[in-house]
Amino acid sequence: MPIAGIYGPDDFGPVHGQPAAQTRSRVSPTERARALPMPSLEWTPEVERSTAHLYERVKNVVSPVEWPFMAPYIKAINELKKTRDAVILAHNYQTPEIFHCVADIGGDSLQLAVEATKVKSSVIVQCGVHFMAETSKILNPHKTVLIPDSRAGCSLASSITGADVRLLRERFPGVPVVAYVNTSADVKAEVDICCTSSNALQVVESLNAPTVIFLPDQYLAKYVASKTDVKIIAWKGACEVHERFTGDELRAYREADPSVQIIAHPECPPDVLAEADFTGSTAHMINWVRDKRPRRLVMITECSMADNVRAELPDVEMVRPCNLCPHMKRITLPKILESLIYLREEVTVDPLIAEKARRSVERMINLKN
Ligand code: SF4
Repeated sequence: MPIAGIYGPDDFGPVHGQPAAQTRSRVSPTERARALPMPSLEWTPEVERSTAHLYERVKNVVSPVEWPFMAPYIKAINELKKTRDAVILAHNYQTPEIFHCVADIGGDSLQLAVEATKVKSSVIVQCGVHFMAETSKILNPHKTVLIPDSRAGCSLASSITGADVRLLRERFPGVPVVAYVNTSADVKAEVDICCTSSNALQVVESLNAPTVIFLPDQYLAKYVASKTDVKIIAWKGACEVHERFTGDELRAYREADPSVQIIAHPECPPDVLAEADFTGSTAHMINWVRDKRPRRLVMITECSMADNVRAELPDVEMVRPCNLCPHMKRITLPKILESLIYLREEVTVDPLIAEKARRSVERMINLKN
């Protein structure tokens, strides 16, 4: 059914506030005191030999010219992980040299949230955006959680605050609230349950309520509303990466090659989804490609996701209308190396907020299990 209304910060006056952008600091005295020596970053025959098996994983998407610049960082990062007792979690939108060569666990938001609960290492380095690192901290309050660049934000996460959720609750008393995991800890603490794009429909229907507030992605809300009889009240947030695709663009790809397969993420606008052969979350899209092995494929999502799939399935030809997420691209090999050398930038969440947010995330994880 059509969604029952879309609300945004303008509907609630001046209370709404965007989190202030954090800027990276220079190495602090504390970081300097615990720093490890900077390893050699030269391209040597030994580096070439010891990283050859990793190059095999990415040779379809990383050129031989690029590799000598990446390999010394990859070798150093993989060695420092052992020294620091660290594990690297990487989202599918991270570039292939990160996703395939230094990550211990890769996946979408749900997979990373679940895996974060099983991690044994004392340090977690989150290669993704800030809300993902916060989720790892929420689920691992006694571990050190690092993000290589804390400015890696998200247009969805910054579209809403905990105060906005409280105002929505005042306007719609008794209506349960579902938050996409792409939200700050502050927002997660105010809602009943979290969801990802993989389980959004299941989460909404699990509440057994006639009406549900679903935030902050208006397009995911519309997609869920099209699949359920539950009345959905949405928020005006959007992913700046998926919102840029258009139905016209997809029609042009299909006219150029009628045999091409098009798959899209539900964060895209409805006219885009209407043109797609398949709509699914990050994990569902990957499984679809593994299963169908299309000859030519248009993946309507973030660019590195297509690269990571192509590294694994070189026989699938990718047509490239992808859009880059500038926030995900803040995470680079040099910053991951610095993160391990200086144990920076540490992610903290107020313990009271973390406790409430943990309930929302765990309720989602337990639903999955
Ligand atoms: S791709 Fe979109 S939803 Fe994902 S981090 Fe970037 S802005 Fe946020």
